[in-house]
Amino acid sequence: MLVNFSSIRTYIFDINGTVIEWNNLYPHIEKLISTLKKRHKKVYYITDNCVITREQIADKLTKLGLKTSENEIISSGYVAANYFESKGINKVYVAGERGLISELGDKGISISDDAAHILLSIDRNFNYMKLKKIGDLVKKGAKLYATGFNRNWYVDGEVFPGEMPIVEVVKKFTGAEVKLLGMPSPEMKSRLLEDVFLFPEDTLLIGDNLSTNVTFGNMCGFRTGLVLTGESSEEDLEGLKAEEKPTVVIRDVRNIVKNL
Ligand SMILES: [Mg+2]
Repeated sequence: MLVNFSSIRTYIFDINGTVIEWNNLYPHIEKLISTLKKRHKKVYYITDNCVITREQIADKLTKLGLKTSENEIISSGYVAANYFESKGINKVYVAGERGLISELGDKGISISDDAAHILLSIDRNFNYMKLKKIGDLVKKGAKLYATGFNRNWYVDGEVFPGEMPIVEVVKKFTGAEVKLLGMPSPEMKSRLLEDVFLFPEDTLLIGDNLSTNVTFGNMCGFRTGLVLTGESSEEDLEGLKAEEKPTVVIRDVRNIVKNL
């Protein structure tokens, strides 16, 4: 076996597409996570989705049967808030939703129409005039950041646009580059390693997306597991570079429970 699940001490799960399909748990996840906790494994969650706050994500998981607290969750919105705080940036223009704005507010970062830093995220109210506003700010020298480069956001059998379509339209319009603060970015890695005490070689990151989750886990020096419930399929493994390949493909999460 490529990963000895019993010797792994820290399990980090991507959330959407891996643990939940936004409002529903995937089969056997509850059993897996309760078994991991019974075996004294540390369990954390990581996500690029910051439509809702970490506290709201924890509530959502708890209501679905996975008792979770806010500090077991690392979101890219939380990473972005910490990053801006560390750089002394206290004013940001945001194409994003209330969850993200609230994470930023927790670090004393206010939302402004006249900011030198622009954060792009999932924004269900993104429109033509927001794009124009971003163009005006970039012309004045503003820098662009994004909470993720995901194409899709899966919600209960439906596919919504992720951050990438917004990032692409902004890049096309402004000609400017966008700095990633979600997976797989060095900023997300340093936040995770600062917040969570772990040994990379004893850590397994499980996710549904090769270019974000798996690449990020590999970048952190973790073992990585790909589940097939979300974005990536086995065909996507063909021709990948080593740093994009998972240590193991998890076709059925019950195999982890059996081998603990
Ligand atoms: Mg996912």
